Amino acid sequence: MANIQNEAGAPPPEGSVPLSVPVLGGNEWTYVKECLDTNWISSAGPFVEKFERIVAERLGVRHAVATVNGTSALHLALHIAGVGTGDEVVIPALTFIATANAVRYTGAVPAILDVEANYWQLDTDRLAEFLQEECGVFDGVLRNRTSGRRVAAIMPVHVLGHPCDMDKILHLAEQYGLPIIEDAAEGLGTLYKGRAVGTFGLMAALSFNGNKIISCGGGGMLVTDNDVLAKRARYFSTQAKDDDRAYIHKAVGFNYRLTNIQAAIGVAQMEQLDHHLDAKRQIAAVYLDGLRDIPGLSFMKEADWAKNTWWLSTILVDPDRFGMNNMDLLRQLQKDNIQSRPLWQPMHQSPSQKGAYVHRIEQADRIHVQALSLPSSVDMDRVSQQRVIDCIRSSAKSF
Ligand SMILES: *Cc1c(COP(=O)(O)O)cnc(C)c1O
Repeated sequence: MANIQNEAGAPPPEGSVPLSVPVLGGNEWTYVKECLDTNWISSAGPFVEKFERIVAERLGVRHAVATVNGTSALHLALHIAGVGTGDEVVIPALTFIATANAVRYTGAVPAILDVEANYWQLDTDRLAEFLQEECGVFDGVLRNRTSGRRVAAIMPVHVLGHPCDMDKILHLAEQYGLPIIEDAAEGLGTLYKGRAVGTFGLMAALSFNGNKIISCGGGGMLVTDNDVLAKRARYFSTQAKDDDRAYIHKAVGFNYRLTNIQAAIGVAQMEQLDHHLDAKRQIAAVYLDGLRDIPGLSFMKEADWAKNTWWLSTILVDPDRFGMNNMDLLRQLQKDNIQSRPLWQPMHQSPSQKGAYVHRIEQADRIHVQALSLPSSVDMDRVSQQRVIDCIRSSAKSF
């Protein structure tokens, strides 16, 4: 696997079609130069504030706190939501490992639930079933009956840029008195019923890693409407400093703040967000058009209440009908210098998540063994995309 996938954001080899690389098409250079010229290079500075304000305004939330990456934003959100040792946090089986790892950093353990078949997001029927049948209230505390752990939060993930069914999740969260922390790392620009994801939960985390919708090299953001939580997020992300002069710290904090240089790139990238989103949608439309008649290939569906960003256009490969499985197709593409990628090993299969609670998983495994993400860089030209489509078409047994 080592040679099929670049480090996130590493420049692709000449002549190859990369999976998803950053596109620095605007004021990045100018803004970074401004940081260097003014000596504002570290974790305070005008671009940090500006980046936070632009993202908050775009989403329609009151507060945004920039962090070193999306994983730290998730950890911070869980920490200030009071999640800790002995707790359990609901996550979907189909996500990047950072979701589960952030839960582990707090000392809590994931409760891993299935995703549904059409949109590949946290299955709200399974969520209802888990809370109703697997959990109970003991001395006023909602606990998983089997593990005995307190259920402390629900962490929906808007996987690949399609939103979760938030109304149903909000309804269940309210019914059981649980906070929602959205993992919106892949969901910048994603809409649920016209409203930005990341604005539904108590808090949400965004990521600006190299392969995300926009990138500042590495970076993340915690967003929330809650004034108190925003203040606590700032406090805990800067070593929980209680006194500037005497360096008094009453709690254990983290060093999670973003630097002004990265924020400068982030500001320039936000100026191009709409362009990036249009490009991703177009790429998905071209794949759909070019591949939909091939037996054995299918796409994630887009719900009528959803606006997917198509962060990574991803197909399902049915080996019987297509003639080869997803990994064989990956190797075919690789021969033609085209990068593709299977989805992440589902969380309940990950050795790193041993001891997690697992509730009835079917779809996540089925999707995982069939899925293949196709090149989806914002600046991919039509010729390269046609090369990908041609390679897939010529690999299909019925063509
Ligand atoms: C990228 C990603 C993260 C982590 O973001 P980083 O900025 O890489 O730390 C978390 N969750 C999901 C679903 C992601 O895709």
